Amino acid sequence: AANRKFHPNDTIVDVCGKKIGGGNFQVIAGPCSVESREQINKIAKDVQASGAGLLRGGAFKPRTSPYAFQGLRAEGIEFLIDARKTTGMPIVTEIMSAAHIELFKDVDIIQVGARNMQNFELLKALGTLNKPILLKRGLANTIEEFLMSAEYIMAGGNENIILCERGIRTFETATRNTLDISAIPLLKQLSHLPVVVDPSHAAGITSLVEPLSKAAIAAGADGLIIEVHNDPKHALSDGAQSLTPEQFDHVMNSVKRMVDFE
Ligand code: PEP
Ligand code: MN
Repeated sequence: AANRKFHPNDTIVDVCGKKIGGGNFQVIAGPCSVESREQINKIAKDVQASGAGLLRGGAFKPRTSPYAFQGLRAEGIEFLIDARKTTGMPIVTEIMSAAHIELFKDVDIIQVGARNMQNFELLKALGTLNKPILLKRGLANTIEEFLMSAEYIMAGGNENIILCERGIRTFETATRNTLDISAIPLLKQLSHLPVVVDPSHAAGITSLVEPLSKAAIAAGADGLIIEVHNDPKHALSDGAQSLTPEQFDHVMNSVKRMVDFE
């Protein structure tokens, strides 16, 4: 169960030797979408040089418009695996349908995006796997609903879950979402699962990524997931919130001043 009452010690999720939780901090970085083999390899090397431990990149993209770039799909996963070969970084990518599970067999962490947090059949299917799941909070879901979704995965036997606070819908439109800072200590009090924060989707604006990252660490986050793009202006998705590798390096210097990690 996700409840700390039944499991007082922090869960440490071990992803190919990269530990998250129980005092182990990790930064996951990479583009919103994998766009080409060259792009993901280049970004992987850059974010690794700045201290990121894991590589993110979307292959199946949950876009608001059906006419927007939908991701490279299976080919995107292949390019991520290639970037893992060159850098040794474990890879994180989003699944949108249980029908695609076989395509994700070599992925290190499967991400469940905000839009699928309550796709209960998908959660049940992921519960039968022996693979870490990064579960993002839904756009308008309560803490209780979020933990119940983690419970769905755990009920099937998969206890390797990383919770991700990525901002919620509020009346405020100046930011893409509102980062719920309270969620971090609250989730950590209620549950033993590691909590990572996604300041990129919370803010929607590049210049807010560094201050929100610092706030997340101050509130007790076990890690960060940050979007980084080689050419944000021309990114096929989420360019407005993506950091350049240079901006990411700057954020990492601030992060390293606040927290110890490998
Ligand atoms: C993403 O990580 O690119 C993404 C789509 O995130 P979210 O599900 O939090 O919107
Ligand atoms: Mn994105």
